[in-house]
Amino acid sequence: MATYDFDLITIGAGSGGVRATRMAASYGAKAAVVEEFRVGGTCVIRGCVPKKLMVYASRYAEDFEDAAGFGWHVPHAKFDWATLIANKDREIARLEGLYKKNLGVAGATIFEDRAVMRDPHTVHLLKADKTFTAKHILIATGGRPWIPEEVEGADLGITSNEAFHLTELPKCVMIVGGGYIAVEFAGIFKGLGSRTVLVHRGDEILRGFDREVRERMRHELQKRGIDVHLKTHVVSIRPQNGRKLVRLSDGTEQEVDEVMFAVGRRPNTSGLGLEHCGVELTGTRAVQVDAYSRSTQSNIYAVGDVTDRVNLTPVAIREGAAFAETVFNNSPTAIDHADIPTAVFGTPEVGVVGLTEEAARAQYDKVDIYKTGFRPMRATMSGRDTLIFMKLVVDGASERVLGCHVMGEAAAEMIQCVAIAVKMKATKRDFDATVALHPSASEELVLLKTKS
Ligand code: FAD
Ligand code: NDP
Repeated sequence: MATYDFDLITIGAGSGGVRATRMAASYGAKAAVVEEFRVGGTCVIRGCVPKKLMVYASRYAEDFEDAAGFGWHVPHAKFDWATLIANKDREIARLEGLYKKNLGVAGATIFEDRAVMRDPHTVHLLKADKTFTAKHILIATGGRPWIPEEVEGADLGITSNEAFHLTELPKCVMIVGGGYIAVEFAGIFKGLGSRTVLVHRGDEILRGFDREVRERMRHELQKRGIDVHLKTHVVSIRPQNGRKLVRLSDGTEQEVDEVMFAVGRRPNTSGLGLEHCGVELTGTRAVQVDAYSRSTQSNIYAVGDVTDRVNLTPVAIREGAAFAETVFNNSPTAIDHADIPTAVFGTPEVGVVGLTEEAARAQYDKVDIYKTGFRPMRATMSGRDTLIFMKLVVDGASERVLGCHVMGEAAAEMIQCVAIAVKMKATKRDFDATVALHPSASEELVLLKTKS
C-alpha cells in the first residue's frame, strides 16, 4: 500500500481550507495546510471582516447627523483614515494569529508558501522548493478580483484588495460594478466623506436580488448623494494632474482620485498544476465538483469560492466541514445550498433569504406577495429621508414562505433569524401566529396582513 507524508494537504488557508484542515486533524488525520499570503484568507484578511469594520466606521457619519434630532449637539466631527486603517490592521493581525494558533492546537502543520500540484498525490512548495505527498488533497484556493483588460489604462484602477490599504481617503472615488462589493464600498467611501460615483453596466444594481429591492436600494444610495450611472461602462483611464481622468461610454469624463473595479471575482485555478491531476474545470474555470465536493480526480476535493457555487464565507466553512466529515469521519455529507441567507452591507443594508418574487413566479403557479415600506421610528425624530422595505414571497397553494427580503437598518440581523423559519418551511400562518415584539422594525414581518 502506498505511504504518504500526510493524510491531507489543503491548499489555501481561507474560510473553507482552515475549517476542513482543523476538523480533519481533530479526527486524527495527519494534516497540513499551505498558504501563500496570510492565514485566514479573503474573509479575514481582505473581505468580510475588514469590510464590516469599515462599514461600521462609515455609518458614524449618519449617526452624528441623526443625533441632532434627539437633542444632541455634536461638534463638527472629523474623520482620520490613518487611524481607521491602523486599528483595522491590528484587529486583522490578531485574528490571523488566532487562526494560526487554532490550526496548531488541532495538530495541523502550516506551510507559508505557494503550492503547485505535480500529480494527484504530490504538492510542490515553491519557496521552500520541497515536495510532499498526501493521500487526499483539498483545493481551497478561493477567488481573486480582476480588472477588465479592454479598459484603456486599466492598470490605473484598483480592486477591493488595494482599497483596504490606501494611504489616504480619496476625495473622489469611482466604483465600477453593481454587485455586493460595489454597493458596500460605495457606502463606505460615501459615509467616510468621499465624493462617490458608481458606474454599472446593467439597468439596475444588485442583479439576482428582488427587483423591487434593487430599485429601492438604488434610490437610497442616490438619496445619500452617491452618483449612480446605469447602463454605462468605463472606456479609458488616463493620468491627469496627479488624479485620474475617466472616460465613460456615455461620452462624459470625470476626474477622480481612485477608480475601484468591483466587477466580480474569478476562481484561483491558474498555475496550480491541476492539468497534471485529472481535475476538470467548469466554464468559469472553477473546480468541477459533486455534491460531496469531490473533483473529477477521486482523491482531490475542492471547497469554497474555487468551486464557484455560492461564494460566501459560511458556505465555504460548511463545505470544508462536510468534506472532513465525508473523508475523515466516515460520514458522507452533502451540502444543501438552498435557502442560504445573505446580506449586502451597504447603507442601508439588504438582507435576503429564499426566492425573489421573480424566481417564485417562474417556479410556482400562484404566488402571494406581502410587503410594506415605512419610515423607521428613528427617522421620525432624526428627520432622515429613508425607508425600510420588507417583502414576503409566499406560495399561494401551500402558504409556505418562499422568500423574505428586507432593506433597511439591521436587515442582516433580521434575516439570519428569519432564515431559520424559512429553512423549517414555515408558512405565512406561522408568521401570523407569532406575537410581535414592539417597538421594533422586524415586528412588521409578523404583521403583514394584506396581499399586494
Ligand atoms: P479564501 O478565503 O479566498 O481563501 C483562499 C486562500 O488560498 C487565500 O488565502 C489564498 O492566498 C490561498 N491560495 C490561493 N492559491 C494558493 C496556492 N497556490 N498556494 C497556497 N495558497 C493559495 N462573504 C460573506 O459571507 N460575507 C461577507 O460580508 C463577505 N464580504 C466580502 C467582502 C469582500 C471585499 C470580498 C472580496 C469577499 C467577501 N465575502 C463575503 C466572500 C468571502 O470572503 C469568500 O466567500 C470566502 O472567503 C471564501 O473562502 P475560501 O476558503 O473559498 O477562499
Ligand atoms: P458580484 O458578482 O456581486 O458583482 C459583480 C458586478 O460586476 C455585477 O454588477 C456585474 O454586472 C459587474 N460586472 C461583471 N463583469 C463586468 C464587466 N466586464 N464590466 C463591467 N461590469 C462587470 O461580484 P463582487 O465582485 O461584488 O463580489 C464577488 C462575490 O463575493 C459576490 O458575488 C459574493 O458572492 C461575495 N461577496 C459577498 C459579500 C457579502 O456577503 N456581503 C460582500 C462581498 C462579496 P452584471 O450584474 O451586469 O453581471
